[in-house]
Amino acid sequence: MTSQDYHIIKNLLDSPQNIAIISHVNPDGDSVGTSLALYNLLIQENHNVNVVIPNRHPEFLFFMQGNDKIVIYTEQPAQSVSVLENADIIFCVDFNAPKRVKELSEPLKKSKATKILIDHHIESKKFCDFVITDTNVSSAAELAYSFIINLNKKYLINKAIAECLYVGIMTDTGSFSYSLYNEKTFLIAAELIKYGIDGCLIHNLVYDNNSENRVKLLGFSLCERMKVIPEYSTAYIVLSKNDLRKFNHQIGDTEGLVNYPLSIKNIVISALFTENNKKIRISFRSKGDISVNDIAKHFDGGGHKNAAGGTSWLTMEETISKFKKILSDYFAK
Ligand code: MN
Repeated sequence: MTSQDYHIIKNLLDSPQNIAIISHVNPDGDSVGTSLALYNLLIQENHNVNVVIPNRHPEFLFFMQGNDKIVIYTEQPAQSVSVLENADIIFCVDFNAPKRVKELSEPLKKSKATKILIDHHIESKKFCDFVITDTNVSSAAELAYSFIINLNKKYLINKAIAECLYVGIMTDTGSFSYSLYNEKTFLIAAELIKYGIDGCLIHNLVYDNNSENRVKLLGFSLCERMKVIPEYSTAYIVLSKNDLRKFNHQIGDTEGLVNYPLSIKNIVISALFTENNKKIRISFRSKGDISVNDIAKHFDGGGHKNAAGGTSWLTMEETISKFKKILSDYFAK
């Protein structure tokens, strides 16, 4: 984005607009936190702002200001579509291609609104008029902070906005343990703390808010469902529908589970296969130079070098053997 681009956006925002903020399916701390930060910022300038997400977000994110205003497509489809249809400006947050918003991708593509992308995933598709994308940034929240600064709207940042952005950075870096490319992530986090937010409390609200079932599912997954393939420095977890049912699985319960195998010494690739109606959801994580984005591509997915996702329509058994074949090809290179 050039300073001219910022100038155009600033001019657009000078008068009240209908603004939609949309982010990816299976919402996470970064997508919801960044969306709500923009929401809490833009409502101060008398815009009509709506946050739309494709499906429900996990409960541990409900504490952020503006959460009660989020429109969820799977629960309010007509309203979600009309928000996009009526928008003058659409912020696309934390996704690199329209398909990432599922059923909302058609109304998004059809919309004549000015579209602004704020994203940090690789291989961004060209579907927005203005594009803020950088794969070497921890989170969309970090990009949104810089966007606010570049728009000269820092004066609008308040405690609620700081809290939302902090949630985005904290969750996308696993509490400042990965996706840390330079000092900027810490400098921005420090700036946010200055607004009086409580980093310990936020950590507690996001991470220490588990149900008993979720913690038991974690234990079960690691103990009964994790396999290690030492020759590929890989560990993976397979969860069937029955497994999930047994622990009364709720949305978000398997969030972060894929990170645990990576804490095993010498393991650099981790995968989580979760059975979902007619398909299998796959999450990948890796360390260092290993690109799970390359692996996820074989499963109609992608993301970042060290964190990616995909989908399989094969049986679980076929999916796992396909995964092993990909690993063997990857390591044969
Ligand atoms: Mn993100």
